[in-house]
Amino acid sequence: MLVISCPYCGDRPEIEFSYGGEAHVVRAPASVTDEEWTAFLYQRSNARGSYAERWRHAHGCGRFFNARRNTVTDFFEQTYKIGEAPA
Ligand SMILES: [Zn+2]
Repeated sequence: MLVISCPYCGDRPEIEFSYGGEAHVVRAPASVTDEEWTAFLYQRSNARGSYAERWRHAHGCGRFFNARRNTVTDFFEQTYKIGEAPA
């Protein structure tokens, strides 16, 4: 079983978590064009290798946090609180 380390609760099984998409996506301002707004909504980097993601400890503390996960090996390299910078 895959174990994910919640920065608030510690190590927990993956079934307690839900995926929240790419982390550190900055909201587009209201003045952008339709094409730029579409890109903000739907286009993500989907990188191979180390990737910053948002996760939620849905069946635990309920908090969101960020994680850096290797998409090739599925290894969680780091988890950190929202607002913190990755190491
Ligand atoms: Zn938690």
